[in-house]
Amino acid sequence: MSEKKSKMLKATQGLKNAMGRHYLAIEQAYRDGKPTAWATSGCPVELLYAMGVQPMLPENSATISAAQKYSKNFIELAEQEGFSYDMCSYFKTNVGAVMEGVDVYKGGIRKPTFMLSSDVICDTHSHWFQVQAERFGGVPHYIIDVPHVVSNTSKRQLDYFKKYVEEQMWELLEFIKEHTGNEIDMEKAKEAAANSYELSEVWRDIYELRKNVPSPISTKDTFGGLFPLFTMPGLRSPINLYKRMYREAKARVDTGQGALENEEFRLMFEGIPFWYQLKYFAMLERFNAIIVYEPYTFAFSKFFSNPFEEFSKKRLLKDPIECMSALMLSFWYIFDLETRVKWFKQTVKDWKIDGVILHNNVSCRPNTTTFYDLKRRLGEEGDIPCLIIDSDQNDPRKFNEVQITNQIESFIELLRKRKKK
Ligand code: SF4
Repeated sequence: MSEKKSKMLKATQGLKNAMGRHYLAIEQAYRDGKPTAWATSGCPVELLYAMGVQPMLPENSATISAAQKYSKNFIELAEQEGFSYDMCSYFKTNVGAVMEGVDVYKGGIRKPTFMLSSDVICDTHSHWFQVQAERFGGVPHYIIDVPHVVSNTSKRQLDYFKKYVEEQMWELLEFIKEHTGNEIDMEKAKEAAANSYELSEVWRDIYELRKNVPSPISTKDTFGGLFPLFTMPGLRSPINLYKRMYREAKARVDTGQGALENEEFRLMFEGIPFWYQLKYFAMLERFNAIIVYEPYTFAFSKFFSNPFEEFSKKRLLKDPIECMSALMLSFWYIFDLETRVKWFKQTVKDWKIDGVILHNNVSCRPNTTTFYDLKRRLGEEGDIPCLIIDSDQNDPRKFNEVQITNQIESFIELLRKRKKK
């Protein structure tokens, strides 16, 4: 079988510079004595920017360690400290990287002024920061507690949840003031919120282009491309980068060019990718297969990945605190099975997807917990073929290349037979 190569957008190459500027801004903040904060994904990072606090995302740092092939070493160091083999590998990568005191380009991250976490996506986030705050010898830590909305959550409960989260958001602003001396400026908060909205909007538009056959972009553009959405929401610079990506992808659509020559199979990939082995995804190209949608990377366009409620720009600018509080209750990862089934069926239809690959990620139970039911329901209700593969996003010890390749080859064979029918 011949080797193929999908074309990455030229604009995506600018991502390295954009992220480089983010790490330089962090270094500059330490030099200038500006406040810094660790934040988990799902937290309102926009408010940190609006209050003159430089955010740092340890999950992002952990992916750098993996991409640079350091994560295994850091994970093993954390295990020697007594953290279990089964715990989240982002957490253990962070523990090891901090122990080693490595620089940002190896996934290192320094002691911040304060930490901000939330249990909206997983409990790991808040426990992770609790542990690290203690190991640093004490760092102020604010946790936003977010109740989960499930199938039978009533409107009354939901309204109560919103108020509960919003109260914490106001308390958070007080907490930041107490530890940095910086006060919230509502005009700056609106500006950061508007930038965040625009960033999400362009990301959504890029995904809309992927509905075209052939798809103009592949995961070479989206797996890395998602990082500005959670490290820099609120800033202008990543918006310009996404706009360039959009324009280039649109030009491909207009001239009928695909990212992959001879696109034959269109796939969805759900879950966090294996950051230490991203080039593995190029293996799909040998079968003329391309991933055209990832719920995980799309989820970060948070204003548009919500099936329950509309988050308009008008609403956001009227009251950014209210809107961001409501948003925290609706992150993709906390959707229940019913919502996921509905969303997947619609996405498969709209993006003309032939098959779904679900990454049963050993690290991330919150994301993978419904996968076997999801596979069954999609098969029974939508005749949608699904493959579940087992691995881990940051721990290469849990990646069995031969096994996964065999599974994917069989899956593509199945899809081929279905097309011939
Ligand atoms: S990988 Fe999963 S468990 Fe780990 S921090 Fe991320 S969401 Fe939480």
